[in-house]
Amino acid sequence: MNNGAMLVRAGWLIDGTGTEPRRQVALTIEGGMVTQVAPWEATPRGLPTQDLGEFFVLPGLINMHAHTILPGDGTSFADWMALPDELLLLQAHTNALAALHSGVTTIRDCGGKGRLMFRLRDAIRAGIVAGPRFVLSGRPLTITGGHCRYFGGEVDGADAMRQAARQLLAEGADFIKIMAAGGGTVGTYAEFPTFDLDELTAAVREAHRIGKLASCHCIATESISLALDAGADHIEHCSFMAPDRLWRYDESIARRVAASGVYVTPTLQVGADSMIKMKERHALGIATPEEAQIVVETPNRDDDTIANARSLHELGVPLVAGNDAGWRYTRFDTLYRELQLLVAAGLTSLEAIGAATGRAAAACQLADRIGTLVPGRVADLIGVQHDPTSDLAALAAPALVLQGGRVIVDRR
Ligand SMILES: [Zn+2]
Repeated sequence: MNNGAMLVRAGWLIDGTGTEPRRQVALTIEGGMVTQVAPWEATPRGLPTQDLGEFFVLPGLINMHAHTILPGDGTSFADWMALPDELLLLQAHTNALAALHSGVTTIRDCGGKGRLMFRLRDAIRAGIVAGPRFVLSGRPLTITGGHCRYFGGEVDGADAMRQAARQLLAEGADFIKIMAAGGGTVGTYAEFPTFDLDELTAAVREAHRIGKLASCHCIATESISLALDAGADHIEHCSFMAPDRLWRYDESIARRVAASGVYVTPTLQVGADSMIKMKERHALGIATPEEAQIVVETPNRDDDTIANARSLHELGVPLVAGNDAGWRYTRFDTLYRELQLLVAAGLTSLEAIGAATGRAAAACQLADRIGTLVPGRVADLIGVQHDPTSDLAALAAPALVLQGGRVIVDRR
């Protein structure tokens, strides 16, 4: 008779809108959606209840930057991409489950090979396997020989960009991801931009034509300007790397980023995770020459990354939480570490939570579906034992994960 209706009694509710935690609130869930949020005493009686009266309840987390087909175990990118597609897809499923079980109910995947991520999402939607909601770019567009070329998105020239973007959108891409600079792929030049402005603009326009978004991977400082000129909606990394490969924050470009209103995913964790591993490997004498050089010459490199993010945040740039899971040593069940690093960059814990919930959903044009726990939103939520606003590590292994009102994990 209750149409699957249920109640979640929360000791504290952090609803993802940025408001302070509220005491003793209950959520009514019907048909997988939140239909009412009210004080305990004002909620319907007799419904099946998840009693989280001693817990903090938050929206399911959104990882704004991940590569779900990659292992996140330090395997070299080129070696990993030599594996057959079937193995990449199975790894993607394993990662998707690890994320979901850690409370990440949505992943914005910033690049996978071929059509694999579309197929994984098809399998999740068909109920063949479990997994989070996916916001997908499919193959990132990259110049011939460019960053992540193994994914199959090499393209040159404005006409070809238009065609490639149209193809991705037809396959089901939610946004177009463009490698506007080189990156961690061996043989690419992170310190220099890649595409010309007319190429970037052609791809961005195709996304905008049908109301979708375009995002640029920017390491080189000049690539940030180009992404803004092209009208991109989102910048990944935003690292301010000068042509001499040193990181040099550029105030005038940062002000342009702020004025444009684009979202920035600073991906702080991926560098921090790999620095920890490289230092361990260096201490054991098993670091590669490149790793040893980084450890010896730039042991505090992460401080620069955090300082960049702090400067952007202080200028009012909306930062969102994506940890680049899959890349190098970053795993899918540790998004809380990116939130901790956002706090190191000057966000309050509540703002960091917003960067992985309400603000993240807005950045994906999904604010009317997910990211907050208010009536009319999907009942993706987590329950954690300790107050995440005083220690974000509380988010590490949620006691309860609900996806669309269904219990996925119950560690109580
Ligand atoms: Zn990435």
